[in-house]
Amino acid sequence: MTTKIERICPQSLAEAKEIIKQGGVVAMPTETVYGLGGNAFDDNAVKKIFEIKGRPSNNPLIAHVHLDYDLSKIIDYDPPYAQKLREAFLPGPLTLVYPSKNRVSPFVSCGLDTLAVRIPSHAGAQAFLKEVDIPIVAPSANISKHVSPTSAKHVFDDFNGKIPLILDGGECEGGIESTVLDITGEIPLILRPGLITREMIVKVVGACEEYIPDLEKDEKVKSPGVLYQHYTPRCQAFRFASERVKDAKNHINQELEKNKKVAVLCERELVKEFENNGVAVLDLGNTPAEMAARLYGLLREAEDICELLIAVEPKEQNGVMTGVLNRLRRACQEVEIKQN
Ligand code: AMP
Ligand code: MG
Repeated sequence: MTTKIERICPQSLAEAKEIIKQGGVVAMPTETVYGLGGNAFDDNAVKKIFEIKGRPSNNPLIAHVHLDYDLSKIIDYDPPYAQKLREAFLPGPLTLVYPSKNRVSPFVSCGLDTLAVRIPSHAGAQAFLKEVDIPIVAPSANISKHVSPTSAKHVFDDFNGKIPLILDGGECEGGIESTVLDITGEIPLILRPGLITREMIVKVVGACEEYIPDLEKDEKVKSPGVLYQHYTPRCQAFRFASERVKDAKNHINQELEKNKKVAVLCERELVKEFENNGVAVLDLGNTPAEMAARLYGLLREAEDICELLIAVEPKEQNGVMTGVLNRLRRACQEVEIKQN
């Protein structure tokens, strides 16, 4: 199969619709990352998505719908504060987990009595969702565990020859996946941090908690996706906390002495600390939003240019950075402090 990359236009949208109607999958842009889309009502299409990605079969998918889609077709109950959240943040990078049973293919939510629904703001995504007028499940369009894609080229690099069409909507502005918010309880619960932060949600509905899985005890975790190692570049990748710049430098020097190709990923104000040192410096940016937008592209660049990536965590840790750090920490292993 040849994989076509096409800008979004009436012809490519019609082609995408036809592929979806036939039970196929199409990659589509969103404002967060690119998704691998298929008909949420079609068991085979949903199974195909799991297969192509190599995604664990207990990691549920998010259904994407257009702004005017009638949610009552796919959810059982609309919790009282959900309307406020939708008015404040949608369309946008927020996924709401609603009570929902047997509304879409049972493979979408992997046996959970809930359905995660997102209304993306990306104009190309909206155009595609309008064109098909059905919920489209669309996990990030990367091979499972690899770095999520923020451009059509990233999708092509992972799925060339495996999918017929990538709708090209340019580079994703957001850069990290949506905030996933469980709204089935009295207080909303963040299952995955993202660009819509806890603080922003508290302002709108008064309260919001963050789910911290206990990997030892939780038998049935609320959101299986949070358990998996994720976002990993195909080179060795280690990270140092922001206050350990000196340790990072020592580590880099040791590795350079072994003739390893090393790259360092750090926030802009640290770039000069690492320049002219025999390492490639990947500049994550200045602001949290910029760092979110650049992170995945740079992790993919790292795997092309080095054998070892050393990431230094940015100093800021709150707000949008919660989501960025969540991804960075799962992409790069922590370096143990050696006690002499
Ligand atoms: P991805 O599609 O790769 O962005 O991952 C989707 C994320 O949403 C994963 O972390 C899933 O665990 C989570 N998710 C999807 N559906 C549900 C659901 N019904 N309940 C809880 N989490 C969900
Ligand atoms: Mg993903």
